[in-house]
Amino acid sequence: MKRRNFILSCIAGVGSIALAPLKSWALEKKEIVALDDTTAKALGYAHDATKVDIVKFPKRAGEAGKTQFCNNCSFAQGEPQVIEGKEGKWMGCTLFPNKVVAEKGWCNTWTAKPAK
Ligand code: SF4
Repeated sequence: MKRRNFILSCIAGVGSIALAPLKSWALEKKEIVALDDTTAKALGYAHDATKVDIVKFPKRAGEAGKTQFCNNCSFAQGEPQVIEGKEGKWMGCTLFPNKVVAEKGWCNTWTAKPAK
């Protein structure tokens, strides 16, 4: 490995280690979307997508509906992360700024993430 590449890898490595707790801290500072939040209620948001009322929100019915979760929605932000003291993993969503949604959650705005 050339000296320049070695130095760059060291900087990148130290940077990721240093930023990891910061990223986690940022997520922990965010509030979990409340189920009685006006927007959440209007969109039928549930922390557990399997509990969505499919009569009211038929989009999540059927075999295709069963595959819809926040973690594969195009509005999700970042990778799901554990938040200390909270069960499951959580992630950002552009519909709920400064809040987090459950990776296994769902709402009626769900849109498939574009294939990579
Ligand atoms: S828009 Fe997508 S990521 Fe956000 S709550 Fe709805 S299903 Fe989850």
